Amino acid sequence: MIPVAAHIELDLPALRHNLNRVRDYAPQSKIVAVIKANAYGHGLLNIAESLESGVDALAVARLDEAIRLRKANINTRILVLQGFSSAEEIALFQIYQLEAVIHTAEQVSLLEAALPGKAINVHLKIDTGMNRLGIAAAQFNSLLAQLQHCKLVEKVTFMTHFANADDQQDPKTTQQLNLFNNTTKQYSGEKSCANSAALITRQDTRQDWVRPGLMLYGVSPLLNKTAAELNLHPVMSLHSRIIAIKPIKKGESVGYGASWVAAKNSIIAIVSIGYGDGYPRHAKENTPVLINQQRFPLVGRVSMDMLSIDLMGNTHIKLGDRVTLWGEGLAIEEIAHNALTIPYTLLCGITQRVQVHKK
Ligand SMILES: *Cc1c(COP(=O)(O)O)cnc(C)c1O
Repeated sequence: MIPVAAHIELDLPALRHNLNRVRDYAPQSKIVAVIKANAYGHGLLNIAESLESGVDALAVARLDEAIRLRKANINTRILVLQGFSSAEEIALFQIYQLEAVIHTAEQVSLLEAALPGKAINVHLKIDTGMNRLGIAAAQFNSLLAQLQHCKLVEKVTFMTHFANADDQQDPKTTQQLNLFNNTTKQYSGEKSCANSAALITRQDTRQDWVRPGLMLYGVSPLLNKTAAELNLHPVMSLHSRIIAIKPIKKGESVGYGASWVAAKNSIIAIVSIGYGDGYPRHAKENTPVLINQQRFPLVGRVSMDMLSIDLMGNTHIKLGDRVTLWGEGLAIEEIAHNALTIPYTLLCGITQRVQVHKK
């Protein structure tokens, strides 16, 4: 691979540090590390290999992601959050020994109708108010009984997912947890509720399992706390390099649409990174980038392969200097805020051409 300017640096020791933070919060719980969407943009296999020995299971959204893990010799338990939707897919769960979330009555019927074969673990998901995936609480007793009689089912874990756990003041989390606990209380079975935000803020959500995603990558899952305040370390740093430096005169514009006009004579640096790499096109003017620990403002529109920054008259910055777009020293939460989005979308938006370097 010919090295290119735009790359992410993966800090795998930081990933292990963040996993230990999960353990600090939930020492009694088993951990299923959520690595859907290419491990939140960090690279599925790098992250899976690094986490595998330290967690009890890995979770992905879709069957094809899980099969990729098995083909790469990941041997730990793997949970598929969207489960299956056909008999053919059930066969793949058996072949690859995957675990399925069951969130509809139709999935239970498919299991009952499936040919005899190897049994799989399932996770029966109750919709307690998110109104996305999950069976209604009223269906729980009968669907659980069906699953328990089904020869293809090994073990049933109970799960739910919170809609508003990032906001500690929101009463919805308590309502959801109460409904979950009431629905499941007369049955023995392991329970799994907490995403990152819930496991950090609420002891009562740390049950047999916790399901952290975002916090493992060193990003704060809470609206009112930074990653640094939570002692989480960023795993991904996004870097590139300066490929041109030029003076422009007062009154001249920079970039498409000529949206930024220099208020005085300025020095502009062009950085080889753009929305084609996953840097947000909607990042506002003055969104910071970092060069040698010092912040510089974004000026003009972000293009596909480049963006421009104002060097603020700084003359010691040279062609080829490294620029950090987010990560170590520059919180992705701040960039997300400047682009009117959330860190999840920035992480997942890293594109194929961005090279990955391990630290
Ligand atoms: C994505 C996901 C998680 C992890 O959520 P974070 O907010 O990233 O911690 C946990 N459980 C389910 C069902 C998910 O879809």
